[in-house]
Amino acid sequence: MTPKQKRAKKAQLISDYGLRCWWCDYCLPEEKLTLDHLKPKSRGGSNSLENLRLACFPCNNSRGNSLYPPKRLFTLNQSLINAVRGKCTNS
Ligand SMILES: [Zn+2]
Repeated sequence: MTPKQKRAKKAQLISDYGLRCWWCDYCLPEEKLTLDHLKPKSRGGSNSLENLRLACFPCNNSRGNSLYPPKRLFTLNQSLINAVRGKCTNS
């Protein structure tokens, strides 16, 4: 994907899902959200919107080439999540 294509996909995903990580539900500013492949590219996943979700860097990074949600998801501090969620304005 070119940077321009990435920006366009990101904008579409933000309008579909809001400024939040698909995995941990943290609300993040646009520049801190990454494009994550549900099915990793290394496993044949495409760059189509159906295969892309927004993820924070730690979630994206901890998934690596996995087909499964990041392990981090299950160890996050719930009260911290709630504190951050409170700042969501576009949910
Ligand atoms: Zn996350």
